Amino acid sequence: MSSLTIRTRLTFWYAAVMAVVMAVLGSGIYLAASFGVRRVADQELTAGANGIEAFLQHKLAIHQMDNLGEELREHASLIPRSRMFRVNDRNGALIYQPANMAFVPLQVPIQDETVILNLVADGRSIRTASRYSHVGSHLFLLQVAVDQTEYKELLMGLAWLLILSAPFAGLLAAAAGYWMSGRMLRPVQLIATTASSIDANHLEKRLLISGTGDELDSLSATINSMLDRIATSYERIKQFTADASHELRSPTAVVRASAEVLLMGESRPEVVQRTLSNIISEADYMTRLIADLLTLARSAPDRGPQAEELFELGESVRALKPRITWLADKKNIRTMISFDDDLLLLQGNQSVAERVLMILVDNAIRYTPSGGTMWVQLWRDEANGGFEVRDNGIGILPQHQEKVFERFYRVDAVRTPGDSGSGLGLSIAKSLTELYGGEISLRSAPGQGSSFIVSFPLAMMPPPDGAILSN
Ligand code: ADP
Repeated sequence: MSSLTIRTRLTFWYAAVMAVVMAVLGSGIYLAASFGVRRVADQELTAGANGIEAFLQHKLAIHQMDNLGEELREHASLIPRSRMFRVNDRNGALIYQPANMAFVPLQVPIQDETVILNLVADGRSIRTASRYSHVGSHLFLLQVAVDQTEYKELLMGLAWLLILSAPFAGLLAAAAGYWMSGRMLRPVQLIATTASSIDANHLEKRLLISGTGDELDSLSATINSMLDRIATSYERIKQFTADASHELRSPTAVVRASAEVLLMGESRPEVVQRTLSNIISEADYMTRLIADLLTLARSAPDRGPQAEELFELGESVRALKPRITWLADKKNIRTMISFDDDLLLLQGNQSVAERVLMILVDNAIRYTPSGGTMWVQLWRDEANGGFEVRDNGIGILPQHQEKVFERFYRVDAVRTPGDSGSGLGLSIAKSLTELYGGEISLRSAPGQGSSFIVSFPLAMMPPPDGAILSN
């Protein structure tokens, strides 16, 4: 059964259910009809016997019991010709019977019970009732009968009609079921055909939504949204691969060129020294680049907002202060880190906030000439809080300010070997911040410096225990 198509199975079920319904319905109709026919016959038999008994009672009352045979014949001529009856005396001797009763055999009841039975006589189906009747001191044997041949033939015809119509209805249901299931399963066929044509090169294809809102439509919508997610992931992997291969091309070329210089037998110690340190710095650059690309691929916005946590920003800045100062001191840049003693409780992610802070600090140091100043400042308003990293370095021209947050965008487009910038820092900072419900903005003036402001929502503090809320 399991190897049959849904269409065949549905067709089979339609036919089977229809055949069963027809069998049950047909038997019911037949039984009800034959029961009805029998009840009408029995009523007729009882009425007939009662009528003859009443007639005999009447004859007794007017003392005309002598010539009962003749009286009954006259009586019979007044009643319908089809009425069949017979009157015998207590010894079984016939008193009267009309001609149409002659072929019906005599039935003798036991004691006072009425005997009803069906019999076939002279090719006719007869239902007959016999009973004893006490009329005064007289005892008569009354037998009445009804000819049911026509009814029986009708019932037989009905039975044949029902028996033959069951397989016919089954066949009809099978044909209708086959046609209907074919119609209903056509969209499934379409889904299968479309789905089989979707592969890595055709990930933009989508299943057709008919707009009926039925189960198949919602299945198509579900598959489509699954395809959307797969396409986005695939796009991200493609972007990662493309970015990585593009960005790794020049450092590998530098490494190769440096190695060739050494292979050619370069022996001047300062050249060997410089070439080797080129190789090391390019290797460092590549390691950082790959890590950055991975961070970006993992923090893609389509992953939806991440679970946020409560954190205290002052604690992070306090912990990072020595590192920030050390980095700035290396380039002779003054650091001004300021925060008040109040707790700054934010909603977001602590390690993300720290990572973003270090990216901005790193940039501020790199793009501020020696002797400059960098400020790290915590801030808060009614709804948000965060930090600002400001410097009085080279600044960013207005036309670059939007673009510096894009992947690989660098204001100075020519990356020189040994420079650690990859153009990914700010795009990582932005996507990480936004992933945890925060925002990042930039104010800058060329030659005067830049200020990056990071903001997270203030943490909602639950009311203190036992506090009564009033309007
Ligand atoms: P990079 O690795 O090149 O620093 P980022 O994404 O961090 O990549 O920065 C993109 C560009 O934005 C940088 O190349 C630089 O030109 C500019 N930029 C970033 N921070 C500063 C800053 N504090 N001052 C001046 N320019 C900046």
